[in-house]
Amino acid sequence: MTDPASPHRLCILGSTGSIGCSTLDVVSRHPQRFEVFALTAHSRVDELFEQCLLWQPRFAALPEAAPAQALQARLRAAGCSTAVLSGPGALCELAAAPEVDSVMAAIVGAAGLPACMAAARAGKRLLLANKEALVVGGALFMAAVREGGATLLPIDSEHSAIFQCLPAQRSLWAGHIDHIVLTASGGPFRTRDPATLATVTPAEAVAHPNWAMGRKISVDSATMMNKALEVIEARWLFDLAPAQIRVLIHPQSIIHSMVVCRDHSVLAQMGTPDMRVPIAYGLAFPQRMASGAAAIDFSTVAALTFEPADAQRFPGLQLAWDTLHGAPGSTAVLNAANEVAVAAFLDGGLRFDQIHAVNAGTLSGIAITANEAASVDALMALDGRARAQAQQLVKGLSS
Ligand code: NAD
Ligand code: MG
Repeated sequence: MTDPASPHRLCILGSTGSIGCSTLDVVSRHPQRFEVFALTAHSRVDELFEQCLLWQPRFAALPEAAPAQALQARLRAAGCSTAVLSGPGALCELAAAPEVDSVMAAIVGAAGLPACMAAARAGKRLLLANKEALVVGGALFMAAVREGGATLLPIDSEHSAIFQCLPAQRSLWAGHIDHIVLTASGGPFRTRDPATLATVTPAEAVAHPNWAMGRKISVDSATMMNKALEVIEARWLFDLAPAQIRVLIHPQSIIHSMVVCRDHSVLAQMGTPDMRVPIAYGLAFPQRMASGAAAIDFSTVAALTFEPADAQRFPGLQLAWDTLHGAPGSTAVLNAANEVAVAAFLDGGLRFDQIHAVNAGTLSGIAITANEAASVDALMALDGRARAQAQQLVKGLSS
């Protein structure tokens, strides 16, 4: 760690995405407190260029060498001294760099796992938005956090809510929790006639009623696969039994999640649906600082309502508990299938209501051997095998 008087140095993985941009928005409100050390992106090179000009990070990274070289030349011509890295090792190198205090993991998908592991092993403060990394990495991810001495801070709003409700010291709450309730908005199709789900377009699926997010998580919210991934995420973050994790639809998205204690006292965290709140908490932890989010005006909140999730409308939700009870590696298979299915839906190659068929079909079509969940490399290979199987199912369904 840098000394307390010097600014806290940040590496933001996925800086051009929804969470990455919200993180920079929060950081811009506290210029003395933070320094942007590294920014990384995937395909949005122009956005990364603009961010580099504004934030002057020491490093930037892109996956491919040619666009990275082109970005480097543009930055030099603009008088910016940022060094642009590329290649598979670049993200891990930046996430583990000795100068870095906190890593914001805001890449979407399992692609973010290696860099999260690198940050965990290097003992960083790891602000985890990239839920797929934990869904895939599971026990190995948590072991890396423990062994590396990292501080894992949840950014997903539900998990930040649970984290904010519990004392920081695990021994003060472990054994005293009956269960947790992850709230869900129900997404854009909560009340839509299920018979019409076959005709849902990508534009309709990404139009979330309460949150502005990246395209993949928006589709996941519409199928409630996002909540399934969050159940798995909560299992690992809080070391709970699968049966201790429940889901409830709360369309107003004001209560971000709840903890039900053994004595049946209920702790809830509330706020406007704005990701800058959990991001600011992760950045300032254990302190608080301004996030830019509006305060709730309770006098204008007509009602807080709750309803169970309809298993027929949202068949993917149950897959969370099924995979948590399945062979180790099952959650990685589910995640891989879902990434393939969502990408195919967004590309117009799969119907919305077929996403579940691909996920369930991939899970039942793959027999996982014990070794396939024994290391991160093995899990990434299993991820690849599941993707190939899911692609086959997509092909079969779309032909
Ligand atoms: P997004 O699509 O807006 O941004 C994703 C970022 O990751 C971009 O910067 C992109 O360049 C980068 N990226 C994509 N694929 C990559 C790859 N293969 N390698 C390296 N970088 C890659 O997504 P988002 O909505 O910001 O979500 C990011 C993560 O945060 C997801 O895991 C999501 O589930 C989680 N999350 C998001 C929100 C939200 O409000 N957006 C809320 C909770 C959790
Ligand atoms: Mg969430």
